[in-house]
Parts: sequence; structure tokens; C-alpha cells
Amino acid sequence: MQPSEDLLEMIASFSGNLVALTGAGISADSGIPTFRGKDGLWNRYLPEELATPQAFARDPELVWEWYAWRMRKIFKAEPNPAHIALALMERKGLIKAVITQNVDNLHERAGSRNVIHLHGRIDEMRCTECGKVVEVTEPPESIPPHCRCGGLMRPNVVWFGEALPQKELNLATELCSSNNVVVIGTSALVQPAASMPFYAKRNGYHVIEVNPNTTPLTGIADLSIREKAGKAFEEVCTILKEEEIR
Ligand code: NAD
Ligand code: ZN
Repeated sequence: MQPSEDLLEMIASFSGNLVALTGAGISADSGIPTFRGKDGLWNRYLPEELATPQAFARDPELVWEWYAWRMRKIFKAEPNPAHIALALMERKGLIKAVITQNVDNLHERAGSRNVIHLHGRIDEMRCTECGKVVEVTEPPESIPPHCRCGGLMRPNVVWFGEALPQKELNLATELCSSNNVVVIGTSALVQPAASMPFYAKRNGYHVIEVNPNTTPLTGIADLSIREKAGKAFEEVCTILKEEEIR
């Protein structure tokens, strides 16, 4: 059998008891660089050194320049077959939710409705003084941006060393403990998301991994698709779309 047939067959066998856990790799096929890949211009900066509260306190302008660069890339990117397949699967009742570590909005733009953002969203910024959250569709005109109250705005994302949003974390933990999990494009190095597939496994559920490289999850995966996300879901996407038309 072809990997995509295995994938679709296994997904269908779960009868809707499935959630997806996605990481930067799913958006790599939409042209958004992962953290652990090569990034051209920003290669000389380590994300671990820019995406921190300390970096922002030291140099908000530099951190905002980096986020503005990422925003420009993300806002002009398009969802790929993996994002689209997950949205179609939700519509068909094959999947309950997408839990993502990504800060981009490609799942939503592909049509997914139940998206849990563990690490916040790059299309929002938050006032460091009054806490007001503002949606953005383009990078701020002046950097660093300020709130009406005069406070400094920050990207509404979770930085290294910061706590994850409690509600999202609880929901994701609960879903991964009581469903099969398909893990797509995550290095499984960033906690606590990296532990979630283990909750599923411990409770007797299955884990599928889609990643061109092996990860700490590979050993527990019931099905490992060693391909890029866009390619792995291309045929799944075509089949689901055809079923839509029928
Ligand atoms: P990561 O950068 O640590 O690892 C990416 C993983 O994706 C690797 O395992 C790699 O083998 C795999 N990968 C690369 N290309 C792929 C492809 N075409 N298809 C499938 N898999 C592919 O990513 P992560 O685990 O999500 O990690 C960490 C942090 O990076 C998160 O906090 C996330 O917020 C942040 N991040 C987000 C974005 C985004 O929103 N698009 C982009 C970069 C980083
Ligand atoms: Zn404010």
C-alpha cells in the first residue's frame, strides 16, 4: 500500500476519535521557515535568543523587526494540502481538533474551526501595560508599536521561559489523553507539547507521525510517514475533496 492509503485508512479506523498535533514543519511546505532550519537573513540570530521576555526587555525594536519579518512571510503564505486535509477531516467528523504549536493562522485560513493555539498567535498583539489584545492583518507601521494607553505592545505569543495559556493547555492535555493523535511536523523537543502523544499512548490510543526526519516520538508511533507534510497529505486531500463533490 502507498503511505497515503495507510494514512487515510488508519485515520478512518479511528471513527472520529482523533486529534492533530502540529508544529512548524506543517507550515514549512507553505514557505514558512521552521526554527531548526536555515532562515537566511535571520540565521545569525537564534530564535531561542529573540523569542524571550529578556530579549524584548533589552531590545524591543530588534524583537519587533524579527516578528514583522515573520508576519510578512506568514500573511502572504497559503495553506498547503496538509492544512486543507485537516480542515476537510474536521468537516467530515474524522477529527475533533487541531492542537498547534504554530503561531501562524494557516489552519484557520484552510477552514479548521476547532484550533487550539498552545503558543499564541502572531496575528495578535497585546499591551504590556493594560493587557488589551488587538488583531493585526499586517506588520505594525511603526516599530515598536504602542497601545492607546501608551504601553508597549508585544506579539501575543508565548516566548521561551513563559507559561502556556492554562485553558488551552488543559484542553490539549485532555484531548491527547482520550484520543488517537496524528503528529505533524513537530520536532517534539519543546515541552509540554512534546509529551502529549505519550499521554495518548499511555491510555491505549494510537500515534501517527508525519515528519521527514525521526524525532523522540518515532519510537512510539504506530505509523510513521517519513515524508513532508504537504506530500503526505496531498492524496488524502484529493480523496477528501472528491468525496465532498459527490
Ligand atoms: P521545530 O522548528 O522545532 O521543528 C520542525 C519539525 O518539522 C522538525 O522535526 C522537522 O523535521 C519537521 N519538518 C521540517 N519540514 C517539514 C515538512 N515539510 N513536513 C513535515 N515536517 C517537517 O518546530 P516545532 O516542533 O513546532 O517547534 C517549536 C517552536 O517553533 C514552537 O514553539 C512554534 O511556536 C515555533 N515556530 C512556529 C512557526 C509557525 O508558526 N509556522 C514557525 C517556526 C517556529
Ligand atoms: Zn494598553
